[in-house]
Amino acid sequence: MTSPTAEVDHLRASRAAVLERIAGACGRVGRDPSSIQLIAVSKTVPAERLRSAVAAGLTALAENRVQEAESKVGVVDGATWDLVGPLQSNKARKAVEVAAVIESVDSVELGRRLDRLVREVRGLPVRRLPIYLQVNVDDDPSKFGFAPAELERALDDLAGLEAVEIAGLMTIGKLVESAEAARPTFVGLRRLSERLRARSDALGPGLSMGMTDDYPIAVEEGATVVRVGRAIFGERPRP
Ligand SMILES: *Cc1c(COP(=O)(O)O)cnc(C)c1O
Repeated sequence: MTSPTAEVDHLRASRAAVLERIAGACGRVGRDPSSIQLIAVSKTVPAERLRSAVAAGLTALAENRVQEAESKVGVVDGATWDLVGPLQSNKARKAVEVAAVIESVDSVELGRRLDRLVREVRGLPVRRLPIYLQVNVDDDPSKFGFAPAELERALDDLAGLEAVEIAGLMTIGKLVESAEAARPTFVGLRRLSERLRARSDALGPGLSMGMTDDYPIAVEEGATVVRVGRAIFGERPRP
């Protein structure tokens, strides 16, 4: 078994390597690396290892299941938790209790439910919950998210909510042979955001896109948040 100190060193090196590739991508397109947030996707990684991750500077973590997030939040200090996986309505209250940000809002109904729950859970005056609207940029039937054509209407429907803040758009790139092949998806999300923001103040400038196989490309195309799991924690056990 790896000692905690060796584990921290290893994770610190992985973090540095990812940050270096982010900086490299920024250099190619003239962006400032400090404008990009690295989120370490910690699903399947045991809480004990996550304590080493926090010690290594990986304090922004993300889970794709509410239950798994809940089991870790109380035993890993010093981290914030984004929720990046599909959220069933019966888990929404728990999600509001544990998540700093919910990146996977894929319906107007869920957005409204979160708004109501934030008021109930946090009370008034309410600290707003940042959310991202997940977009199925490529209209892939196997993926969650709003179709691009639905978003304008959805933003109008969500615009008045006071307890959630629509920080931006999120997407998951296509499973493709090369990172380069994911580029059109990222370009699509950025353009969609630009178009929508030109006509609605409700949408923030955030673009959550890019994972282990394609985050440098996503950064080149304007990502403000990258969600990286395997490049930091190694391969996950098969489900
Ligand atoms: C698992 C997951 C990631 C991280 O994927 P890696 O390929 O391990 O970097 C990012 N986003 C979402 C929504 C995920 O479920």
